[in-house]
Amino acid sequence: MEKKVFNIESLEIKRFYFDGKLVIKCPSCKVDLERDFSSDYLSYPSFTEAEDISFYCDDCEKEYILPVNMKNTIEITYDLKNMK
Ligand SMILES: [Zn+2]
Repeated sequence: MEKKVFNIESLEIKRFYFDGKLVIKCPSCKVDLERDFSSDYLSYPSFTEAEDISFYCDDCEKEYILPVNMKNTIEITYDLKNMK
């Protein structure tokens, strides 16, 4: 089995959805704030620089910005015996 790992630096994707959620506590009222990336996309995400992720608290009626660092790797495995 052969394996190659690629680190992706950015994606030229205007609306990048993926199956994942980030849940944080509101810095003011401590209620759970959720960012669901399956419905709320990232636009042209960078994996080399911090990305600002926004959260909206309904209770505080305020938007909060959290800088995050993301990593994106693609792992390819293959077996040359399967070559057709
Ligand atoms: Zn709040």
